[in-house]
Amino acid sequence: MLYVVATPIGNLEDITLRALRVLREVDLIAAEDTRHTRKLLTRYEIDTPLTSYHDGNERTKAASLVKRLEAGEDIALVSDAGTPTISDPGYHLIRAAAEGGVPVTPVPGVSAATAALSVCGLATDRFAFQGFLPAKQGKRRETLRQLQDDDRTLVFYEAPHRIGEALTDMHEILGDRAVLVGRELTKAYEELLRGSLSQVAAALDGTTPRGEFVIVVAGRDEASPVNETMLRAEIAKLLQAGRKANEVAKLMTQTYSLVKRDVYKVVLEVAKRR
Ligand code: SAM
Repeated sequence: MLYVVATPIGNLEDITLRALRVLREVDLIAAEDTRHTRKLLTRYEIDTPLTSYHDGNERTKAASLVKRLEAGEDIALVSDAGTPTISDPGYHLIRAAAEGGVPVTPVPGVSAATAALSVCGLATDRFAFQGFLPAKQGKRRETLRQLQDDDRTLVFYEAPHRIGEALTDMHEILGDRAVLVGRELTKAYEELLRGSLSQVAAALDGTTPRGEFVIVVAGRDEASPVNETMLRAEIAKLLQAGRKANEVAKLMTQTYSLVKRDVYKVVLEVAKRR
């Protein structure tokens, strides 16, 4: 059996009883960083042998681990933090095991994404996990543009030195939506920053962000601070008063922190109906 075991994202108490039992009982633990996982095992007095399985050796190591599984051994796969394969290695091993007819079972637990979602105070009935945005600005902005019309809550992981740029790009491309930035979740310096994208970006501006971050951004519909009927009525009034479509779109965009492209579409629709 291949067990895919979630481990804590900071607080070592965030591990299930089943995870501890499985880690104790398997023949081998395949870990992203054996030194890191050893700390967890030491805390719970588990002395199961460890082997490394990481981005660098994923493909070659998967084949040798599957051989051991096929020979009847039980292996637990863990990553440095949270749930394996969620922005972490594991995919190749799981795929190779499944293809080889080896049973695979999840031992679920923590993930930074679900931990942040659980406290975000935004809609969580539907969400889109985006993982890390591209590091290069052009690609990052392109990815964000593709998400502009998504009405699901958006979840991102981000490195501390890119958090400012990422929030600024999000504000520019998605509009001034509600956001939760979760820093160092479950750790001693846990911090939850709530507000609009511009407010949270301003709060972090001039600081040197440290630690690990999750960003949860409201989806397109929840983001709108104004309801559409009101917006249409206001647009109609301004057009009636002789203001130009472009001018109205600009004014509404600034007043309600909306995305100009979207507002302009509504302005044109309202203008057509008059
Ligand atoms: N597999 C992990 C999971 O299930 O969440 C994610 C691994 S990914 C390589 C690491 C990223 O997850 C970090 O850069 C950060 O964005 C996020 N992360 C992990 N632990 C976190 C924590 N305690 N607080 C906030 N974000 C965290």
